[in-house]
Amino acid sequence: MKETGETVVRTTKLPSGDVLPILGQGTWHLAETPGRRKDEIAALRIGLDLGMTLVDTAEMYGDGAAEELVGEVIADRRDEVFLVSKVLPENATRRGTIAACERSLRRLGTDRLDLYLLHWRGNHSLEDTIEGFQSLLQAGKIRHWGVSNFDVSDMDELVGLPGGSDVATDQVLYNLTRRGIEHDLLPWCQQHRMPTMAYSPIEQGRMLGHHELQKVAERHRATAAQVALAWVLRIEGVIAIPRAGEPNHVRENRGAVDLRLTERDLAELDQAFPQPRGKVPLEML
Ligand code: NAP
Repeated sequence: MKETGETVVRTTKLPSGDVLPILGQGTWHLAETPGRRKDEIAALRIGLDLGMTLVDTAEMYGDGAAEELVGEVIADRRDEVFLVSKVLPENATRRGTIAACERSLRRLGTDRLDLYLLHWRGNHSLEDTIEGFQSLLQAGKIRHWGVSNFDVSDMDELVGLPGGSDVATDQVLYNLTRRGIEHDLLPWCQQHRMPTMAYSPIEQGRMLGHHELQKVAERHRATAAQVALAWVLRIEGVIAIPRAGEPNHVRENRGAVDLRLTERDLAELDQAFPQPRGKVPLEML
C-alpha cells in the first residue's frame, strides 16, 4: 500500500476561485451502527489530519445522524474543513431550503456551510430552490451552492434560469465501472470551469476484487482502492469523496493522491472497464 505522511492534498478551484482539496470524505451510512461510532469519528479525524478536509454529508444520511457525527468531529476544528451538505428534493422550496439548511447547521454545530447541494432533482421548481440558496448566501449561512445527480439537460436548464449560472458543482456517480459522464457531463462541467464531485468512487467496494485492477495495483505496490481513486483523480477538476468508517481505509485512500498511473495502466484499465459507446443516462445510487 502507498503511504504518505503528507498533510496537504492537491486542490482544485470552484468557479468563484475558492480552492478545495481533490480528495475528501463521504459520510453516507456513518452513524448507523453504535458500535462503530468511535472508529468512524477517529477515521474522519485522521482524514482531516492527512489533508482530506472536504467533508460531504446530507440531511438524508441517517436522518440527520451523520450530520451530528460530523458536528462532533469538527467541533474544535471547523475552520480546517470545507463542509458540504445537501437538501432533500422534497424540502427544496424557497422556504423549505432555508429551513432545511438551518436544521443542518444546528446538527453540525456550525453557523455556515461551504457548499450546499440539491441532493437530486425533485418536483419543486428549480427557480424556488435557487431563491432559497440565494437567501442563504445573503445571510452568510452558505458560501456556495450546487447540485447533485443532474445530467447535462438539467444543467443546461439550470444555467438558463435567473441566478442559475452561480451553480458551483455537480456531484455525480463516477468510477471505473460508471463512466457514462465522460461523454458529455464531464466535458460540460470542464467547459463551465466547475469541478465535478465523484461519489461512490470505489463503487461501495464492489469493484475491489476485479482482477485487472488488482494487477495494476500490484505493479505499484498499491491497493485496488488506491488505483480506483487515482484513476478518478487523474482528471483535472474531479474531486473524489470516498467514505471510510475504518481508520486504515482512510490512510489508504489518502495514499491515492500520490499515485501516478502510467499510460500502460490507463490502457489496461480502459480495456477492463470500457467507456460506454454512446450517451447513457446519468446513473444514481
Ligand atoms: P464509496 O466511497 O465508493 O465506498 C464506501 C465503502 O467502501 C465503505 O463500505 C467503506 O468501508 C469501503 N472502503 C472505503 N475505503 C476503502 C478501502 N481503502 N479499502 C476497502 N474498502 C474501503 O461509496 P459511497 O459511500 O456510496 O460514496 C462516497 C460518498 O459519496 C458517500 O459517503 C456520500 O457522502 C456521497 N454520496 C453521494 C450521493 C449523492 O446522491 N449525492 C450518493 C452516494 C454517495 P468502511 O466504511 O468500512 O471503511
